[in-house]
Amino acid sequence: MNYRSGFAAIIGKPNSGKSTLLNSMLNEKVSIISKKPQTTRNVIQGIYTDDTHQIIFTDTPGIYKADNRLGQKMVKLAQETYKNVDVIIYIVDISRKDVLKSEGHIFELIKKAGKPVILVLNKTDIIKDKGMILPVIKGFGDEFEFEAIYPVSAQNSDGVTQVLENVKKLIPEGGMLFDEEHYTTQTERFLVSEIIREKLFMSLDDEIPYGTHVEITSFKERTDKEIIDISADIYCEKKSHKAIIIGKKGDMLKKIGTQARLEIEQVLGMKVFLELWVRVKDEWRNDDRFLKEIGF
Ligand code: GDP
Ligand code: MG
Repeated sequence: MNYRSGFAAIIGKPNSGKSTLLNSMLNEKVSIISKKPQTTRNVIQGIYTDDTHQIIFTDTPGIYKADNRLGQKMVKLAQETYKNVDVIIYIVDISRKDVLKSEGHIFELIKKAGKPVILVLNKTDIIKDKGMILPVIKGFGDEFEFEAIYPVSAQNSDGVTQVLENVKKLIPEGGMLFDEEHYTTQTERFLVSEIIREKLFMSLDDEIPYGTHVEITSFKERTDKEIIDISADIYCEKKSHKAIIIGKKGDMLKKIGTQARLEIEQVLGMKVFLELWVRVKDEWRNDDRFLKEIGF
């Protein structure tokens, strides 16, 4: 069999389980799992590689109504993503009430995309009445001609292999697209910034973490010891937010730093020195030039 490689986008509402599904397919922690929606701002690429296939997954930001320029950019980014993929994996949390009703605009998006779509009905583990699954499958099937529909539990990795196998069938013949080593360093930096962001969300009230952006400014492995030195800037929107993030005598920042470091050490399997700086960038979410600078 010839080698196959291609792109798969994972789409769906915030909290539907996109990150969980991706992580389950890749079997490693790629993006943060968070109860708060919209924490994943970047189009994360997770790469699945085996002897016969390479699949590049993009975990698109949640599709939602954009209320500022960053939001608009994210929706645009999502639409752009669909154009460049071979397969769309569309995931829905079927434990939600009236699940079909709120999905109208996603049907429009996938119709426009014109790509094969695999529908994943997620969170079957918390469905008490399993009898409701069939009518939901039929309901979705009436709206769009899906390549396949799979009830799964991404959390328990139930049914996830079948999804992966179907994606493999839908990507074209072709050689490996990504060199894993390069990908790993990129991913590690990204993972570290996401872990720091996750800790900001855990420790701070709603408004503040949504206004933050984390940038890794230095990421160096020492040559003489098994230690990685990492520096990161935490951007926030206001001076008052900066004061809260730092906390009394630096207590808050110390706590966030320690929590982040412990998890980073776990993920990277190495000792880490983590340096965090808090910087104020007024209204960065609406500042086009700054957004461009950080890759949007
Ligand atoms: P995303 O916003 O679409 O990326 O969703 P996440 O992957 O971050 O998941 C949102 C929440 O749903 C998290 O609390 C997950 O633990 C939970 N979740 C994801 N998949 C499942 C599942 O199969 N079953 C259950 N019970 N919870 C799930
Ligand atoms: Mg996510």
